[in-house]
Amino acid sequence: PFETIAGDFYGFENLLTDREKEFIATLRARLESEVKPIVNEFWEKAEFPHQIIDVLHSSGAVGLGFAETAPFENSAVFRGWVALELARIDASVSTYVGVQNGLALGAIGVCGSEEQRAEWLPKLASGEVLGAFGLTEPTSGSDSAQGLKTVATRDGDNWILNGSKRWIGNATFSDITVIWAKSAEDGQVKGFIVPTSTPGYTATKIEGKQSLRIVQNADITLENVVVPEALRLQNANSFKDTARVLRLTRAEVAWAAVGVAVGAYEAALRYTNERVQFGKPIAGHQLIQDLLVKSLGNITASIGLCTRVSEMLDAGEQRDEHSALAKAFATAKMRETVAWCREALGGNGIVLDYDVARFFADAEALYSYEGTREMNTLIVGRAITGQAAFV
Ligand code: FAD
Repeated sequence: PFETIAGDFYGFENLLTDREKEFIATLRARLESEVKPIVNEFWEKAEFPHQIIDVLHSSGAVGLGFAETAPFENSAVFRGWVALELARIDASVSTYVGVQNGLALGAIGVCGSEEQRAEWLPKLASGEVLGAFGLTEPTSGSDSAQGLKTVATRDGDNWILNGSKRWIGNATFSDITVIWAKSAEDGQVKGFIVPTSTPGYTATKIEGKQSLRIVQNADITLENVVVPEALRLQNANSFKDTARVLRLTRAEVAWAAVGVAVGAYEAALRYTNERVQFGKPIAGHQLIQDLLVKSLGNITASIGLCTRVSEMLDAGEQRDEHSALAKAFATAKMRETVAWCREALGGNGIVLDYDVARFFADAEALYSYEGTREMNTLIVGRAITGQAAFV
């Protein structure tokens, strides 16, 4: 029989189909045995463990959201659980998949032509091609809807890209990067599948990160990078189309945030049952139970929220403000939860060996990427009041 995890107090996993549960059980076992044992070492070194790429792709965790690559018909709630399971082991691992699956494959899946989907989706799902997603720039983060400076100039059958990107995940080793740039012709944002071997394209690792140290983020420069029209995403005509990709990934980041909280909670639950102070396990002290139960309350509420936002996607009812609220709420609750779990471990809460320190540090990046809490709040604020308050 399928076993639900300790962090799933209300048994939400029982809403999944038998096939989905079977997939989750296999993925969970592989993550526990093949990924979890090495993450602290690689986090400390700030290096990416390339051996996990095969584990993640061969277990089918990439490409589940598109008919071309999904091994079986599945629900958005199930795909959310996959994001949760990955983050429950490690937030960097879930971010690798978030970039490869949600952002790179997702951009081509949502904005590509039939031919582009047929060519790239299977390769990205299998891991034959590694992808990245370049939207953010050194001078444009939250305001990337209007502030992009990277320019695409049409030149016959080609486009010439010039500009720079910052923070681009997986981009130190990606084979292609989806670059978002403003067209010099109509001023609209367009997307390009840029092979990273193209002359004029360079990616440099960002050093010194204290959150998601396993994820390799890069600064990218584009100097007269020539991209054929055939590699322009044929259905990306303005930032509205970029936003269609982000609506999907934001809901998955919300699920990943719950996974981070669950990972920290389950580690704290184990630890507090073993650690003895004042003659009994600290889990037997009332104030420690308060930390654990508040954490479980945050997690349970967030799973409920995420479940509904994913059901809305399958029902064709999900709008930008729905996934924005899920992302803002779940990441804020994650941040509160990892702090409580870290508190429950005392001094051991700040060393890697006990896992909670890694979840605590990694939570900060999830809180800010894919739209900060403020930006997602403003998206919801605009929807409920009719007043745009961004500028
Ligand atoms: P800023 O936009 O400079 O914001 C700084 C602060 O000001 C924030 O608190 C923000 O909420 C606040 N603020 C800004 N405007 C307003 C306003 N109008 N009202 C109120 N507050 C405001 N990008 C990619 O394109 N691809 C990736 O793969 C990628 N991966 C990432 C991975 C990591 C680990 C990180 C940290 C970032 C990644 N990003 C990526 C970039 C990420 O999306 C941005 O960091 C994020 O959008 C915030 O932009 P910024 O860092 O430039 O902050």
